[in-house]
Amino acid sequence: MYKECSEVAQKISEIIDGEADLMTSFRFYTHLMVCPKCIKYFNQFRLMKKAASEPDPDQLPADFDKVMSFVMEEVEHNCSHG
Ligand SMILES: [Zn+2]
Repeated sequence: MYKECSEVAQKISEIIDGEADLMTSFRFYTHLMVCPKCIKYFNQFRLMKKAASEPDPDQLPADFDKVMSFVMEEVEHNCSHG
């Protein structure tokens, strides 16, 4: 387990609620790229939250898409070499 895992776990709620700042989001998603366990945890947590209270998509922070698209590009780079 990465040492960042516990840090990431603490931030999950903030991230999902859109309360985390850009650097926190960036570090969070960067960690997800290298840690499948946290991806699973994140997805489960998000589904739980979603089930608890249907979030309005408009509540996502303005730079959410920016962060995500950057992260997805990085993921593709990583995957391309195996
Ligand atoms: Zn992790």
